[in-house]
Amino acid sequence: MKKGKKIYEGKAKIIFATTDKSLVIQHFKDDATAFNNQKKANIEGKGILNNRISEHILSSLKKVGIDNHLIKRLNMREQLIDLAEIIPVEFVVRNIVTGSLTKRLGIEDGTVLNKPLIEFYYKNDELGDPLVSREHVDAFGWASTSELNFIKEQCLRINDFLQGMFIGINIKLVDFKLEFGKRKSDGKIILADEISPDTCRLWDADTEKKLDKDRFRKNLGNIVEAYQEVARRLGILHEQTSNVRPIKFPKPTAVKIKKK
Ligand code: UDP
Repeated sequence: MKKGKKIYEGKAKIIFATTDKSLVIQHFKDDATAFNNQKKANIEGKGILNNRISEHILSSLKKVGIDNHLIKRLNMREQLIDLAEIIPVEFVVRNIVTGSLTKRLGIEDGTVLNKPLIEFYYKNDELGDPLVSREHVDAFGWASTSELNFIKEQCLRINDFLQGMFIGINIKLVDFKLEFGKRKSDGKIILADEISPDTCRLWDADTEKKLDKDRFRKNLGNIVEAYQEVARRLGILHEQTSNVRPIKFPKPTAVKIKKK
């Protein structure tokens, strides 16, 4: 299996063909965008961390029976994935109200929802990814009723699993975005894209410190450090990812021992 031509370049990732027609390579870039491409930056090391974090999450989901496109991570920035025809809908799952939902409905930031809320956004940059209803998803044939029911069920299972995984490392899973597609090899609807601090809101459970892309959106600084913190707590910050940028430890203070 060899790496072939670039077939698609998105905001944070590139897709390359391979000699196997049903497999592609997903490459994680350091580019970050927000507010529908109006804010852009290159954040050194972000792609490496997202590759590693997303690999950890998607392989854990596979182990609990949530099928997805990940085959294996190939190197620091790339993973081999199943080629899938992506459904043009972003599925957002929310546990705590924040972000666009606060603005749209005027609900207080931080309100904890009684049960998870699933929203659908039409994937279209020119239109700014507008919120749509399940009737739109059906009317425009983006997914059939049974496919949509399956996807919603998967969203809730993924949410349950991720909430548990994150609370175990003292992180609140506030909300996140998922994408699904039809796998080329067997036509099955599977989870695709990535799950990382770029696509989730993650708050430290004690301090509510933001450990996700909101640090970029809101100019809070220390973006890579926050992503490293997530990777470290997940237990996946090995030499490869920890040398993205050295973590600065305070110098040991000299202890003076008084002579008696
Ligand atoms: N999200 C994403 N990609 C998008 C839009 C949203 O990954 O194109 C994620 C975002 O990181 C957050 C959740 O989906 O975890 C909900 O985002 P929201 O609707 O609040 O959007 P925003 O605040 O980005 O406008």
